[in-house]
Amino acid sequence: STAPPALAVHNIQVVYGGAIEAVRDVSLEVRSGQIVALLGSNGAGKSTVLKAVSGVLDTEDGEIEKGSVHLFGEAVERAPAPAIVAQGMVQVPEGRRLFATLTVEENLVVGAHLQGAGRLAETRDYVYTLFPRLADRRKQIAGYLSGGEQQMVAIGRALMSRPKVLALDEPSLGLAPLVVTEIFNTIRKLRESSGLTILLVEQNANRALAIADYAYIMENGRVVLDGTSEQLRRNQDVREFYLGLS
Ligand code: ATP
Repeated sequence: STAPPALAVHNIQVVYGGAIEAVRDVSLEVRSGQIVALLGSNGAGKSTVLKAVSGVLDTEDGEIEKGSVHLFGEAVERAPAPAIVAQGMVQVPEGRRLFATLTVEENLVVGAHLQGAGRLAETRDYVYTLFPRLADRRKQIAGYLSGGEQQMVAIGRALMSRPKVLALDEPSLGLAPLVVTEIFNTIRKLRESSGLTILLVEQNANRALAIADYAYIMENGRVVLDGTSEQLRRNQDVREFYLGLS
């Protein structure tokens, strides 16, 4: 098809504080309806790429120095986060960043207002359909929920803007294996039931490759390898260094 990809990143360089080059010459593509994983160890630059495409780098004195980011064919590399959200992509930050003293429902509603979303009640009910556990806990204080439930609130809050592309930063971080399974099943379900396109930043390569169509591996600010999940799982270096297999 000739439709532009959901997200296309070309040769971006990202610098923090005008000096620290965190990402060099990174290119990647996420086609509509795909789950694409961005893998690599701590400090490789994954989160920086995700922040760059989401337009939130300025809060950390970071900047895209070179290169381009296109969302459904539109250049967004200089766009602020709200404009990117309005164009259909929303980020779920690492560490969830919930309003810890507000209830589950208030987190969803505040999220919707911050993102300028309409059809609030309808979208909230859709989120509760996806996460029945959140519906049961709608009046509970978010800060007292389990880690997995908090991750669900963070994803639910992002969904309140009715995105087409969801960018997830380490959704499995700090969660028990069973809960990680649940979160990853949910991500798969979001793609299947809602046709969402997903960019997934993960340190857990095993889990990510199990649900992704395609993946990029970063080291020291660069993409060093990319391929379908199948190809990467067969790659000897990937097996050894990222999957703990031999
Ligand atoms: P992690 O899993 O730890 O988040 P990562 O692969 O996502 O790792 P980044 O967080 O993107 O990596 O970090 C890439 C590089 O940029 C690292 O060297 C990091 O120290 C640096 N860096 C990240 N954020 C900032 C910042 N706000 N200011 C300065 N340097 C930063």
